Amino acid sequence: MAVLRTDPYIWVTWLTKLLAGESMCEWSSWFRAHHKDYDKVPTEFDVATWTIDHRELVNARRDELLDKGYTVHVEDENAFRRIGKTGIVVSGKPDILAIKDDFGVIEDCKTGRPRTSDQLQVLVYMLLLPIRNPLCENVILSGRVVYKTNGVDIPASGLDDRFRARFVDLVAKVGGAKPLPKSPTWAECRWCDIGPADCLYRVSEPPESAEAETDLF
Ligand code: SF4
Repeated sequence: MAVLRTDPYIWVTWLTKLLAGESMCEWSSWFRAHHKDYDKVPTEFDVATWTIDHRELVNARRDELLDKGYTVHVEDENAFRRIGKTGIVVSGKPDILAIKDDFGVIEDCKTGRPRTSDQLQVLVYMLLLPIRNPLCENVILSGRVVYKTNGVDIPASGLDDRFRARFVDLVAKVGGAKPLPKSPTWAECRWCDIGPADCLYRVSEPPESAEAETDLF
């Protein structure tokens, strides 16, 4: 049964799909931010395959960076928890923080198809990981999303006022007391693990009405 959290807690990836407009169900992020131990339903996401593929990609990228002379910090070493003045907690775990001399790069490895949210996720890491982090002191940071066959560089210039304002605004909404709107669609619900005890609006089948013939064109 869902247990109310003492303080709102947000995992970075609950924000980035909303920031990118790839997810419309704000309520799912709001609910997770305010509840834990909720009844979960299995989703179509294949965790075992993802874990193995992701581990291989992170290890390969770590080895590349080590060969280039970087000091490399991986996954749990990079876990952070930032507590805002509002009491809202934002947590995340970048796959890689690599540092060489005065330069550093925060990287996240993605085994799926590229999405805008991948880049926003790295930008949020670039915003939050350096806060009171001795490893990042006096280091010029950039970011990168690492895919199986290529990488996308994320320059620090992406951390502009507009991005910061959108991030702060979304954290306030997702961590705020007022429930956010639900957007039940098969495209989203099929990947959502919030069970029927907490969300009665799950769409479990693709909509039949989405396809229809017309004489209009
Ligand atoms: S099951 Fe669907 S409507 Fe309910 S929270 Fe998840 S995505 Fe939103």
